[in-house]
Amino acid sequence: MRFSLFPRRKFHNVTEITPEILRELGVELLILDVDNTIAPYKTLTLEKPVTDWAEGLKGAGVSLFIVSNNKGERPEIFAALLGIPYLKRAGKPSPRGVREALAVTGTAPEKAALAGDQIYTDTIAANLAGVQMLLVEPIKFTNPFLAIRYFFELPFRREKR
Ligand SMILES: [Mg+2]
Repeated sequence: MRFSLFPRRKFHNVTEITPEILRELGVELLILDVDNTIAPYKTLTLEKPVTDWAEGLKGAGVSLFIVSNNKGERPEIFAALLGIPYLKRAGKPSPRGVREALAVTGTAPEKAALAGDQIYTDTIAANLAGVQMLLVEPIKFTNPFLAIRYFFELPFRREKR
């Protein structure tokens, strides 16, 4: 796969990523970003639509794996809620965490995708690790910095042609 800052697919919300879409893309392992992808910053719970969505994917045979840059307790809490493995302090845009998820699950890069909300961390990490990037809109802008970063991401917030 050639390096690109453009995502493979783009979604408003992570729950729009269905088992059918993943099957179409050949994805068996979906790696999840935490902050602003499955939950807004700082919350300690997951909304029911998100837990229902995750259960649906697992039921369809998709493996889930949290790879987060978060240093706090949220990756672990959410992983426990969903009953999936996790890795925190992943250091995205480094591909290290994504590669570790591939290694732990024994998944080939082309059979994996990363669902995340950021271009300059998630998309770069996915690309460097050779997995497909599924970009979602950030759930919530909690501070002005996030809105500024989003502005600089806009050129890349479209589906790869
Ligand atoms: Mg994020």
